[in-house]
Amino acid sequence: MNKKTIKDIDLKGKKVLVRCDFNVPMDENKNITDNRRIVSALPTIKYLLENNCAIILCSHLGRPKGEFKPEFSLQPVAKELSKQLNIEVKMAKDVIGEDAKQLANNLKEGEVMLLENVRFHSEETDNNEEFAKELASMADIYVNDAFGAAHRAHASTEGVAKFLPAVSGFLIEKELNFLGNAISNPERPFVAILGGAKVSDKIGVIDSLLEKVDTLIIGGGMAYTFFKAQGYNVGNSICELDKLDLAKQAMDKAKSKGVKLMLPIDTKIGKEFKPDTESKTVAWTEIPDNWEGFDIGEKTIEIFKEELKNAKTVIWNGPLGLFEFEQFAVGTNSIAETLANLDATTIIGGGDSAAAVEKAGLSPKMTHISTGGGASLEFLEGKKLPGIESLLNK
Ligand code: AMP
Repeated sequence: MNKKTIKDIDLKGKKVLVRCDFNVPMDENKNITDNRRIVSALPTIKYLLENNCAIILCSHLGRPKGEFKPEFSLQPVAKELSKQLNIEVKMAKDVIGEDAKQLANNLKEGEVMLLENVRFHSEETDNNEEFAKELASMADIYVNDAFGAAHRAHASTEGVAKFLPAVSGFLIEKELNFLGNAISNPERPFVAILGGAKVSDKIGVIDSLLEKVDTLIIGGGMAYTFFKAQGYNVGNSICELDKLDLAKQAMDKAKSKGVKLMLPIDTKIGKEFKPDTESKTVAWTEIPDNWEGFDIGEKTIEIFKEELKNAKTVIWNGPLGLFEFEQFAVGTNSIAETLANLDATTIIGGGDSAAAVEKAGLSPKMTHISTGGGASLEFLEGKKLPGIESLLNK
C-alpha cells in the first residue's frame, strides 16, 4: 500500500480521531447480533492506546437520513467496545455538539470516547466542508479504519482528511493487502465466484475480473440474465431484460480473453417467493413458465466444486441463491464448505457471502473475510476509493 499507516506517523500522546465502520446489525432490543466489525477495529484502537493516544472514535450506523433518531444511536456499540477493550468507552450525546466537544476537550491519554452516529447530520453524506472541519477540530491526527465505508466520499471518510494529517489504520491496510495481492499477484489458477441478485450491480466487477482470472463462476439471480441472453426461457426468475447485451458482451469477452466462464447447468426452481414453496430442480434450458429459479442445482454444485478443487486463489462475492430461505441455501452453503476445505487463498468479499460463511461457522477456515461488501467490489473493479485516496502518501 502506498498510503501512510499509523505506523508511519508520530502518535505519542496525540488526540486521534478514528473513523471506524461500526455499522453492525442489531435485533429489536438493540443487541448486536454480529460484532465482527467491532472486533476488526480493535487492533488499531489497542495500538493507539499503547501509544498513549486519546482516542475519539466515530462511525455511521444505518441510514437515519440526517436527523437524530434514537434507534440509530451508537450507544450499544460503546457498550460492546467497553467490554472488548476492558475500559470505559465514553459515549457522546452528539457528533459535533457541545457534549461531544466537551468530552473530546477533556479526554486524557489512554481514554476512549465515541461520537454519536455521524449520519445524524446530512452534512456527513453531503461531504460538507464545515462539518468536516468541526470533526477535525477535535483532534490532532485522523485515522481512517472504516474499510466498509471507504468507497464513500463523506465528511468523516474523506472531507476530514483535508484538515488533519491523515493515515490508515490496520484494518484498511489488511483489507488492501489481501484484496490487492489477490488481484495483482494471484497464485493460479485464480477463480472468482460472483453471485447475488443483479447483473447491473456486478457488471463492472465482471468486466475487470475477466482481465485477471482463469475462471469466472456466475451463480445467483444474475445467472438468469445470462440464460435469457442466450435465448432461453427463465420463467419468473429475476432477470434484467435491459442488461442482456451486457451479459452477451461479458460472454464474448471471456471467450476472447481465454477465461473459462461457468454458468449453472441446472437450477432449483420454486412456484412462489416463500420459504416453503413447492420446488424442483431442472436443467437451465428447461425452466417452465410461472416458476422462479432460486438456487443452483446439484449438478451445478458438482461442476463448480470440481473446478474449485485445483484453484489456488479464490475470490467470492454474492450468494449463489436465495440463501435466506433454507431450501434455497444449499448452493451457497456447499460453495462455502468447498472453499473452507481448499488448500488455497480464499477471500470472501463481504456482505451476504460473508454472512453465509459466518452462519455456517466457516469463517476461521477462510484466508480473509472482507468487512466491506461495496468497498471490496469497487476495489476489485479497479475504482479509486475516496476514503483511501485522501490519506497521506508514503
Ligand atoms: P447482492 O446484494 O447483489 O449480492 O444480492 C444478494 C441477494 O441476492 C440476496 O438477498 C439473495 O437472496 C439474492 N439472490 C441470490 N440469488 C437469487 C435468486 N436466484 N433469486 C432471487 N434472489 C436471489
